[in-house]
Amino acid sequence: MTLGLEDALVSGIPIGVGQRANCDVCGADLRPNDRVEVLVLIDGTEIDVVTTRGMCCARGSLRPETRRPCWLARGTLAASIGPGGHSRVILTGASVIDRTE
Ligand SMILES: [Zn+2]
Repeated sequence: MTLGLEDALVSGIPIGVGQRANCDVCGADLRPNDRVEVLVLIDGTEIDVVTTRGMCCARGSLRPETRRPCWLARGTLAASIGPGGHSRVILTGASVIDRTE
């Protein structure tokens, strides 16, 4: 499988500040090396993570009624240092598994 443009775009996007993120559905702690599923809203050249789900609550596909341009991607959390030296977690090795269009 080749790394597509979408995969490259979602890899490296920040998921949370500090050393953790949370599953937006059940609130479970997500830490570096955890697999996550994220819903990403595409607005022109802007990419916004609107929902982060742990594998605990992963759905694997977008709802069929989804109308807004968005991607569902899976990847692994990794610790990173953001602008200003603050620690954060980012999405790495991501691949888009579903998309509207
Ligand atoms: Zn969950």
